[in-house]
Amino acid sequence: MDRYAVVGNPIAHSKSPQIHAAFAAQTGQALSYEALLAPLDGFAATVAEFRAAGGRGLNVTVPFKLEAHALADRLTPRARAAGAVNTLAFGADGVLGDNTDGAGLVRDLSHHHGCNIAGLRVLLLGAGGAARGALLPLLQAGPAKLTIANRSADKAVALAREFAAAGGSPLDGCGFPSLAGRRYDLVINATAASLSAEVPPLPPGLYSDGALAYDMVYAKEETPFMRAARLDGAARVADGLGMLVEQAAESFALWRGVQPDTGPVLGALRRALAAG
Ligand code: NDP
Repeated sequence: MDRYAVVGNPIAHSKSPQIHAAFAAQTGQALSYEALLAPLDGFAATVAEFRAAGGRGLNVTVPFKLEAHALADRLTPRARAAGAVNTLAFGADGVLGDNTDGAGLVRDLSHHHGCNIAGLRVLLLGAGGAARGALLPLLQAGPAKLTIANRSADKAVALAREFAAAGGSPLDGCGFPSLAGRRYDLVINATAASLSAEVPPLPPGLYSDGALAYDMVYAKEETPFMRAARLDGAARVADGLGMLVEQAAESFALWRGVQPDTGPVLGALRRALAAG
């Protein structure tokens, strides 16, 4: 049986084993998928051991995505642009590194929220790893414009400069106060603010009619960002559970050549989260 795993530290909370077991059952693929706790200074050794024992691929989560990027022999264009890797595939020709987070976000938006990015005014909040991972897939989806806004404005400006050549859409970076008077159709929170029950300090009136506010974080109830967005006029709000399932599906497809049906898996996960 082919072996796969998710590696991180901590890892006990990970929903990836559950998601991949559901994909495997649904598509009739014979594989096992486990959670691997790597010591903070032992990522490369953990990967080497897993590979030597016949492992075929790994998902990589916090805090090892940069190390996984360094470890890969070859990178997909989206992993190179992200500067981080969340998926490793082991083959006869070495280790392939991919980043499926951004593609997972775009697929969640289109498949589960009826939100096609082409032609939309998009605001991406944050300039850390999650924002960086999302940028190339977002730009490739053809927004009318894309603004990156971050607490530390200089990081948003630098990120916009770095990705300016990547897509045809106008791209700019700024701090939160500079957003005053602007309106967006889709606002994506890729900051870590929700993890500490905070909300990025955004000027009021950002949301256009029918706008969607999307938080990459997921929770049993609405996140603080989702609540604040609703109060500021966002017509629809969503959390990042679908992104989690879709990035897993992209990894599964890379490894197995089969695209799972994510709808039922997301539904089961949502019900379990609500009941938990
Ligand atoms: P990083 O630590 O790399 O980046 C953190 C970012 O958040 C920075 O831009 C930082 O701004 C900003 N930030 C932190 N606290 C605040 C605050 N109180 N107010 C405003 N801005 C703040 O984190 P990641 O990019 O790796 O992760 C961001 C989030 O995305 C996490 O919550 C993570 O769980 C989520 N995520 C979800 C995924 C999914 O599948 N659903 C996948 C990947 C990530 P500054 O530069 O000024 O410090």
